[in-house]
This record gives sequence, structure tokens and C-alpha cells, in this order.
Amino acid sequence: MTPRKSDATIITIGDELLIGQTIDTNSAWMAQELNKIGVWVHRRIAVGDVWKDIWQSLEEESNLSDIILITGGLGPTADDITKPLLCQFFGGRLVVDQEALANVKNIFEVHLKRPLLERNLKQAEVPDVCTVIQNKRGTAPGMWFEKKGKIFISMPGVPHEMKGMMTSSVLPKLQEIFQLPPIVHRTLVTAGIGESFLAERIKDFESTLPANIKLAYLPNYGMVKLRLSTRGNQAKMVAELEAEFDMLKQLVADVMVVDEDKNMTQVIGDILLKEKKTLSTAESCTGGYIAHLLTSLPGSSQYYLGGAVAYANAVKQSLTGVRAETLEKYGAVSRETVTEMAEGVLRETGSDYALATSGIMGPDGGTPEKPVGTVWVGIAGKEETATHQFQFRFDRQRNIELTANYALNAMRRYILGA
Ligand code: AMP
Ligand code: MG
Repeated sequence: MTPRKSDATIITIGDELLIGQTIDTNSAWMAQELNKIGVWVHRRIAVGDVWKDIWQSLEEESNLSDIILITGGLGPTADDITKPLLCQFFGGRLVVDQEALANVKNIFEVHLKRPLLERNLKQAEVPDVCTVIQNKRGTAPGMWFEKKGKIFISMPGVPHEMKGMMTSSVLPKLQEIFQLPPIVHRTLVTAGIGESFLAERIKDFESTLPANIKLAYLPNYGMVKLRLSTRGNQAKMVAELEAEFDMLKQLVADVMVVDEDKNMTQVIGDILLKEKKTLSTAESCTGGYIAHLLTSLPGSSQYYLGGAVAYANAVKQSLTGVRAETLEKYGAVSRETVTEMAEGVLRETGSDYALATSGIMGPDGGTPEKPVGTVWVGIAGKEETATHQFQFRFDRQRNIELTANYALNAMRRYILGA
């Protein structure tokens, strides 16, 4: 049996998407997951909660694509019309699905301890011409339809619920139906080198890659990920991919952070865990963002002790022991201040390492000597303290994110003795 074609369209439904009130994160996530299993998404479309527009997009997209994935419009309120529309589109009638009903009752009576309204009960109704995709994370069931050889899958707009359905039901079922060869990736992460310099360095490697192996550059916050992928997991193909990946690793050895698809925080966490060392932070310009990144990782309590958000000068003094004279003489954004912040928090927490940040994130607050984007990072260990100055040129949010990544990378190099 030859595999069926498997091009997809994603239709996201909701007025809130069109006015930009809700950012459509669903279709980005879905496209990534579909791509991983080898389904090519060739269109992503957003439409309002408008009967005619949804209907028309279903007709148009099913002329183009083999799989139509739909999210949104399944809520219990009157503005959500996707379900009755799909029922009419596929010529069915609404019937109660007993399993979905039990799920809705369970959520209201056991978890929420609230009486069930008629409109909540209606959530258990589905067109009798669909296969129900049970929703283990919410009340609205998903629906799977087939018509003229095309597949239509309707899921709730709530990202967490949609992701649950995609992972447990939709993706495995698509893989089975379309007999998709998995896409195998090998990824490494570099830091401290721009995308174009990297491209220049590996241009010979790139031009001699076998046709079945693709190279992708994925730049993000001062780091560039390089990803090699191939479609199919036969031993010979995987071996060929591994050989190319080894070659790539050699070419970028001096700027490589890790030879896996990991972010900087995960890398730091892994190193600290392995070396059985602890870390604390004293953050001014990043305002606790680094602490947030670290504590977002499961298991971080094994190496991250805590620290201070030392934003005002008075708090830099009281919580991290920076001296008044230091602030007076060198200013809050200086080598001297981040040195004392890092050493202070190291002393107070008893950690093995401490990381301190102080900078001007903008849009205001810059001076000719210290323009917006000036950042000092201090790293203290038991033996010595290192400092780094960075100069960023973006908006406040991006400057904060870049500071965090650069500071963590500096921390990584410090620990590894680079
Ligand atoms: P609905 O299924 O239309 O009731 O959507 C429920 C909620 O999910 C909405 O209030 C939005 O906050 C969220 N949502 C809907 N569509 C999307 C989307 N494409 N991306 C991210 N969130 C969404
Ligand atoms: Mg809606």
C-alpha cells in the first residue's frame, strides 16, 4: 500500500485571534508537532467566529489539504459556533456522547463542586457522524470527521486541552494512517557567534551534505542551534546522520555549548548537578528572571539555593552587602558593584557559585558613558570573582532575556574553567 498524501491546513477559530487579543500559539505548536512526524503544514489560517467564514475556509482548505486541523469555538457560550457548524457541514445531528457526559459531570461534581448548567451538559453533545476524541483536560470533546478522503479534526482552543488531545490521540493516529517515516534530528547549540559567521565557517560542510540530510540554523537570544535532520529511521540513515553530526561538532567545537537540543538554563542545571555544586543569584536589571528560569526546571532545588532581587541601591547594600562607597564612586552598573553583589550573595547563601547582574535595560536611563543596553555580570566562586561587560541594543524585554542568557553562558564557562 502506498502511503496517502499528508499535507495539512491548520484553521484557528476565534474573534479574539483576529483582533490580536489572543496570540495564536496553537497553530505554531501544532505545526511543530506535525512537522516532527513528517506532516507538511502548507497553510495556517485564522478566522473569526463567523458561520460563513468558517464554512468557506473548510471548503477551500479541503480542496487543498488532506488533513484539516481546527481549534477553537467549542466553548459553552453562544459566540462559539464551531460544533453546530461542523454538524451541518458533515450532515449529522447532535447526540449525547456518554463518555464525554461522564467526563463533564466528573469535572463539575467532583473537581469543581459546582452544579451543572444546561449549557455545560450540551458540551457532551457531538455530531453522530464523527469519532469522538475524549478531552482528559477539559469539558469540550474533540471530533474527528472524514469526508471524500479528507480528514477533519476539531479541538478546543484552550492550548493545554488541545495539546493533550494532539499528543495522546491525534498525532499517533495520523502517523498510523499515513505510515509516516519519523523525522530524526540531531541538534547542537552554539553561543557567542553570529548566524552569518557560523554559516561562513561551515559553508563547505553544508554544500557537501547528502541530499537526504537537511541543515537548519535556529538563532535565539545570542545562541544559534544547528539542526541536522533526515526522514526515516533505518540504521543506515541514522549512522550517516551521526557521522555528519560528528563532523559538524568538530567544526564548531570552540563555540559549542551542548550537543543536544537544550537551552542554556538546562545546560547549567546539568553541570551543577553533575558537579554537585550550588548556585545563588543577585539580580538587579534582570529582576529575578534568572531565578525564574532556574526554578522553572524540575529538580532545580538540588542546585539552586535562591538569592536576592536587589533592584534599588539601598537593597543592593542591605541584602547583598554592596558598600555605599562603591555605589557612590562607580555607580550601580559597574564592575565593582556586580563583584560585591556576587560575593555578598555567595557569602550569605553559602553557595559554591553566585551570579550577579546590573545593567540599563532601557528605554530610559542611559548616559553617554553607560548607554542603554550596558550590562555588567559578576560571577563569584570560592576562589575568585570574574566580571563581564556586555552591550545590548534591543528593547527592554529582549535586553533582559539576552542578559540572562549571556550571564548563564558566562557562568557555564566559569564553572568549566574556560
Ligand atoms: P474556545 O475553544 O474558542 O472557547 O477557546 C477557548 C480559549 O482558548 C480562548 O479564550 C483563548 O484564550 C484560547 N485560544 C483559542 N484559540 C487559541 C489559539 N489559536 N492560540 C492560543 N490560544 C487560543
Ligand atoms: Mg472562542
